[in-house]
Amino acid sequence: MDIWLTVFGPTTHGETARQVAAGIRRAGANGLIFFTSLYHGYRLIQRRYPDKAIYSLEADRVFYRPDPTAYRESSVKPERSLDAADTDCVADLSRACRAEGIAFSALVPMCAGERVVQARPDLAVTNLYGSQDRLFMCYNNPDVRAYRRAMVRDIVGRYDVDALMLDKIPQTMLEQHAFSGMFDPPLRTVGSFCFCRHCRAEARKRGLDLSEVQARAREIADRSVRMPPHIVAALGDQLLGDTEIPLLMLEEPLIRRMLEFRFETAIDFTREIGKVARTARPKIVFQAAFVPPTHIGHDMTSPRAWLTVLTPAGKWRLKPAGHSTKPAIIRPRLERACMIRNSLPRCSIG
Ligand SMILES: [Zn+2]
Repeated sequence: MDIWLTVFGPTTHGETARQVAAGIRRAGANGLIFFTSLYHGYRLIQRRYPDKAIYSLEADRVFYRPDPTAYRESSVKPERSLDAADTDCVADLSRACRAEGIAFSALVPMCAGERVVQARPDLAVTNLYGSQDRLFMCYNNPDVRAYRRAMVRDIVGRYDVDALMLDKIPQTMLEQHAFSGMFDPPLRTVGSFCFCRHCRAEARKRGLDLSEVQARAREIADRSVRMPPHIVAALGDQLLGDTEIPLLMLEEPLIRRMLEFRFETAIDFTREIGKVARTARPKIVFQAAFVPPTHIGHDMTSPRAWLTVLTPAGKWRLKPAGHSTKPAIIRPRLERACMIRNSLPRCSIG
């Protein structure tokens, strides 16, 4: 059995890379997933390190020494960590893991990047109201793709990594709890859609009119926004998306098609990144963290469980198929919702 532990950048204060690798072995794990950068400045309580017990992560600063030539064709350039300015964590830890017999996976956030997207709002997800997101970038934006391709080429081409984790590839990216109340699942779903010009052009090629989707998304969002917030809050524990989103997809074929479009283009994006990584390191293992529209999705306020697709044989297994078979991740939930729908009173909101 493979047991992977994660390290969020330079958060093993005072320990050498060898000590970290030995500690992973002693803990009974056989793999390390290392965050080569963090997309959000999470605050951590680090009980293991009393002298750094409260530590805020740097956002979008890389914990390795980037090769500038790799980013020549990217309009976004990586910036190094200030906290670990003289340390190449990827070099040190990948070497130490190799010596210890621990697999090393480099995690690269794909679509989330708080500092990058605020400096470059043209890369951002543009929501149904025309507002640009301050955390998520659009994976259909060619500049986002060029930046992440360059980053993967730089890391996989120069460091001895066994695996690559592509993190934060969202179908939905909104958190459950916003500053002024909860997003209920339909609002969280339609509020996550991107209507930027790149998405519009790509959707048009695939026979989907995003203006039509936007108009319908607005009607669905309006129903949610009209709901008194204390009602949504009172039902908060139940509004996880498991039942609401499959029902929404049954009732709203256009929304289902939009989710499929997002999943298809996410697969195209990951395939593009995979090709770059495989060219540099043919036997690399891929791990990709997708964010479906249910309660296991991303929450900006804290890291949460994700849905990972793994290719242990080094082959990229995701394949877009006909409409009837995709998205494969959502399908079991849809079937479950059908069963629930047959046995319970209707419980969707709005
Ligand atoms: Zn977009």
